[in-house]
Amino acid sequence: NEAKIKFTELAELDKKHFLHPSTSIRQHVENGPGFIFTEGEGIYLKDIRGRKLIDSLSSLWNVNIGHGRAELGQAAAEQMSKLAFSSTFGGNSHEPVIELAKKVAEWTPGDLNTTFFTSGGSESNDTAFKTARHYWKVKGQPNKTKIISRRLSYHGVAMGSTSATGIEPFREFTTSLAQGFLYVDSSIESLRALIEEEGAESIAAFISEPIQGSGGVNLPPKDYFKEVREMCDKHDILFIADEVICGFGRTGEKFGMDLFGVVPDIICMAKGISSGYAPIGGMVISDKIKKELMENYAGNFWHGYTYSGHPMCCAVALKNLEIIENENMVENVRNMGAELQKGLKYLEEKHDNLGNRRGAGLLGAIEFFKNVETKERYAEPVSAKVVAKALDRGLLGRSIVYGGQDTLAFAPPFCITKEEVGTIISIIDDSIAEVK
Ligand code: PLP
Repeated sequence: NEAKIKFTELAELDKKHFLHPSTSIRQHVENGPGFIFTEGEGIYLKDIRGRKLIDSLSSLWNVNIGHGRAELGQAAAEQMSKLAFSSTFGGNSHEPVIELAKKVAEWTPGDLNTTFFTSGGSESNDTAFKTARHYWKVKGQPNKTKIISRRLSYHGVAMGSTSATGIEPFREFTTSLAQGFLYVDSSIESLRALIEEEGAESIAAFISEPIQGSGGVNLPPKDYFKEVREMCDKHDILFIADEVICGFGRTGEKFGMDLFGVVPDIICMAKGISSGYAPIGGMVISDKIKKELMENYAGNFWHGYTYSGHPMCCAVALKNLEIIENENMVENVRNMGAELQKGLKYLEEKHDNLGNRRGAGLLGAIEFFKNVETKERYAEPVSAKVVAKALDRGLLGRSIVYGGQDTLAFAPPFCITKEEVGTIISIIDDSIAEVK
């Protein structure tokens, strides 16, 4: 029929002209796109051939309010027809960026009150690394330049953020550039040993996601971040929280670090700030950092993206945060997060090859083992097969196999209902049964 013809035509063009991110070029050119999406509503995406799929990871952990909220399109259109763009370099401003910066400061904890805007998470983290180095230089310690990050962390793909990423395949082309980036496992003893070995006088900052996303929805050991905070204070090391996935409600708290009772010095954000409706991110600094940079340095901070504070993106982000607030979505994240964990518990009890259930809010994961007790793995990961079977049943899922794990990850939109959580769990249940 017509839709199928259209799909085939577009697929050919896609294969010919579009270089996809994080995709095997060979496989793509051989197989073409799996889906060509045309519409979204709530937790669903619709393909050009009419197939409706549950978006169980909110696409890339980012479409937090859910698909199809026309108000955001209206906010974008209104802003673009009034003022599509004006530069914020050198100090000029516009209304949506001022309003958004104020709104972000209402959300962020402690004395984190001032935001530098970017177009996404990678840029936000690169900005944070430069800011940390700038800060120590201004404080008369120019040798404090090294950045510590954790194994299995994901911080993006710009040169700095790739270098900080603790998933090795991503770093293939930055190793020669990645000087001064150090990686630790998730024990506080390892961090202590590393700081001692390298010397605190050479370290600018520690960066971590509150809960690692792409690395497998990994929660830190209890009290880990409290101890990190103490260690950073003791050794004059800035604490950067990469809240790109966790920020703005994903974990059931405003920010992921709120779960651990810790206030970082810098917060990096993206994804959830606009729920993916516009490309925008940011880096928020504490008043302490701002005061230092303001009082003890008169020069320019030579860092800015053309789209730092893009008017349309700011207007969209504002509307997105307004929706999260007005519809009590963070509360729904807590309630539906409990449903998700209940569902994962049910799966864990039913299937003897599942264990290590974990998560917070609408961020959840469960892992496959050949033997749950001994933690023995399958020779070939099962999670990817389950995701393939789930797709046949109308669910777009995510399997994570970095670092030898075999994980199914879930991060559905905040608007999800109890019934929809149930549908996800039952599709996974049937898919596991089929793979067995
Ligand atoms: N930091 C975290 C924790 C992320 O999950 C991501 C993206 O997945 C990034 C940074 C990079 O963000 P972006 O892809 O917007 O550059």
